[in-house]
Amino acid sequence: MAPPLQPVRGTRDLIGEDAARHFHVIDTARRITGLYGFSEWQTPIFEDTKVFSRTLGETSDVVTKEMYTFEDRGGDSVTLRPEGTAGVARALITNGLTQTLPQKVFYAGPMFRYERPQKGRYRQFHQIGVELLGPATPLADAEVISAGWRILQELGIAGQVVLHINTLGDTESRAAYRAELVAYFSRYTADLSPESRLRLEKNPLRILDSKDEGDQKLAAAAPQMQDCMTDEAKAFYDSLLNYLTAFGVPHQHNPHIVRGLDYYNHTAFEFVTTALGAQGTVLAGGRYDGLVEQMGGPAVPGVGWAAGIERLSMLIAPPKPAALPVVVIPMTPEAEPAALATLSALRAANIAAETGYTGNAKKRLERANKSGAAFAVLVGSECKLKNLTDGTQTDVTPDQLIAILSA
Ligand code: ATP
Ligand code: MG
Repeated sequence: MAPPLQPVRGTRDLIGEDAARHFHVIDTARRITGLYGFSEWQTPIFEDTKVFSRTLGETSDVVTKEMYTFEDRGGDSVTLRPEGTAGVARALITNGLTQTLPQKVFYAGPMFRYERPQKGRYRQFHQIGVELLGPATPLADAEVISAGWRILQELGIAGQVVLHINTLGDTESRAAYRAELVAYFSRYTADLSPESRLRLEKNPLRILDSKDEGDQKLAAAAPQMQDCMTDEAKAFYDSLLNYLTAFGVPHQHNPHIVRGLDYYNHTAFEFVTTALGAQGTVLAGGRYDGLVEQMGGPAVPGVGWAAGIERLSMLIAPPKPAALPVVVIPMTPEAEPAALATLSALRAANIAAETGYTGNAKKRLERANKSGAAFAVLVGSECKLKNLTDGTQTDVTPDQLIAILSA
């Protein structure tokens, strides 16, 4: 016999409690974002490679090392999406929605990155996310962050996370800051990691985001964005922090939050926990005013975030299992049609019900007991409802049965 097939490294099956946690996160996010006026979109899980290579930044880790890119049979280069924002921006343009703003988008689904698998880090992972496209006001940033905070609260993990927030400034502030950083890090090129030496030429800001310890030491003493900010950029950030306070979202300024992708400006933020070791960022995002234009659309400002469902799933308490089903058992082979009619009637009345499939009535009752079901319906010449918790049994008509079980 051939050896059994294995799942691909870095992928997982979602079964049992893992699945329950996963879908609880999605259901909660869908409900809360609905209250904030977001609508759910689903874009394809693969796109023209340029959708990502043009927007995420040529030197970003995602583009240089992590993308699943391949040529399809027609010779086109396609990429399994590593994140959700670029696809949503592409969809905004291709569906002619850049004139119908604001668009408030919620999404949930799989993402793909070729990374070293470890706890909280997979090659196929899943994200929930929101994008608010159109308004350039810091109120939009605050609303998006507030929606994220509400989801974390509803999931019962708000007490375990801290919101770190920073501003990357506007174009002018960023150019000034970039110059300061180049001047600073150029004095230490020999101490920088090879990757950060490359970043120094292409995007020095990202050295601040480096995971290399040596880089992090240098970054700790680097010049700060605050000192290069234009008055407009400062006002934007101050106003955002005030809105966050108004929405009741606790936050902490952290000058080292710069985010790994190139398209961010103004706001950058991460909800971080210490409960997951090195994989501590659970929800992260920022403002990306240039993204839609970079994709060939008009200038449409945007702000959003994404959260890793696997990391959220690890933090939440196990969701309550679904209501235990009722098991409908024919007492004799002749009673099977009547039992199946009862089974259908229960399901039509929104009552979860099962039948034992095989074996005699005694066997099926034993299995129903073992399965943890709350009730058995014994269908013979009459219909009896058996409470499997206390063993009591009552005669019921079909109408009574539904009335009792719906209560
Ligand atoms: P990290 O610094 O952990 O690599 P990132 O900056 O690459 O994160 P983002 O691109 O901002 O992450 O994605 C948003 C969220 O998606 C992360 O905060 C995390 O919760 C989740 N995430 C990212 N990559 C993975 C992965 N490989 N496996 C599981 N979750 C992930
Ligand atoms: Mg990463």
